[in-house]
Amino acid sequence: MLPIAAEMQEPPAELRGLTAAELTALLAEGGFEPYRARQLYHWLYVKGAESLEEMTNLPRALREWLGERTRVGAIELARIRGAEGATRKALFRLGDGKFIESVLMRDEPVAVDDTEAAAAPARISFCLSSQVGCALGCTFCRTGFGGFQRNLTPGEIVGQALTMRRRLLAAGETLQHIVFMGMGEPMHNLDNVLTALRLLTDPEGFKLSRRRITVSTVGWVPGIERLGASGVGVNLAVSLNATTDETRSTIMPVNRRYPIGALLEALRRYPLEPRRRITIEYVLLRGVNDTPADARRLVGLLRGLRCKVNLIMFNACPELAYEPVEAEGLDRFAAVLSEANMTVTVRWSKGRELEAACGQLAAHVLEAARG
Ligand code: SF4
Repeated sequence: MLPIAAEMQEPPAELRGLTAAELTALLAEGGFEPYRARQLYHWLYVKGAESLEEMTNLPRALREWLGERTRVGAIELARIRGAEGATRKALFRLGDGKFIESVLMRDEPVAVDDTEAAAAPARISFCLSSQVGCALGCTFCRTGFGGFQRNLTPGEIVGQALTMRRRLLAAGETLQHIVFMGMGEPMHNLDNVLTALRLLTDPEGFKLSRRRITVSTVGWVPGIERLGASGVGVNLAVSLNATTDETRSTIMPVNRRYPIGALLEALRRYPLEPRRRITIEYVLLRGVNDTPADARRLVGLLRGLRCKVNLIMFNACPELAYEPVEAEGLDRFAAVLSEANMTVTVRWSKGRELEAACGQLAAHVLEAARG
């Protein structure tokens, strides 16, 4: 049996996820100068160091002091699937042995009527997770199927981006966009998500433009309001997926708490900078939400809202009792929106063979957890 002191020992503090002020306070405890904290911050978020040994301009005494009470990298890339240059799915092992997934997408939106989108080059986006599992139980989503386990810390959220950016840089590529659209509902872990957003957008740190980050929610209204008031200025995407409360409550239980009317009111109040729009995500489920009448109702619901619509093809999987629409059904739906002068893009699921598209994360987490 371990001595009581050892049993109760706290795990070492994770350096990733600490802000500049927190690093300064930490180093002050050991009597180190504030400029050492700035150097440490640079190593963590600009250079993406994964160990104290890499931080060669920090004195050995400081590295040893840090090594006794902290660590770098509470998450470890356990597996990555998919060919170089294609959509890839990453499985991360957390410090407590749990697993999360995130997805690197090379994404070419197919424009239906938006010439700007048509001219856009392929972009490399990284889809992050914000929780282990999810409590919201959307019936078309594999993550919801497994239930909620815990929130990710800021270090675990930022750590996914740091790990992936480092791999891309080694291959001569750049991480251009981050979307919070992996496992979990970001608004249910908003304190940690906001800390991560501030680190990711810090011009002295990770340096990703806030215009290149999107937080996606199922429509948790208090979270939308807090995100708007926070001033972080990232993009907002909302997963709508239905045009009547009856259908939406069936596929997204959150709708019983925040029905479509309340959600759209919150979106109309959301503080948007000039020329920016909210993205409305709509996963097409055959026979559920894909009729021309749905498309016409969607036009009516979104009238006057500064938004664009992303139509997403559902990926069929054995656990979920839904089917994707046929290509013609998708075209018909998109045409109704285009005729109403809405900007609409179709997001084909680049990661279908990997089960790496929307709502498809978690299967391999379960596999990995079983060993
Ligand atoms: S779609 Fe998002 S909010 Fe809904 S269960 Fe899945 S992870 Fe949770």
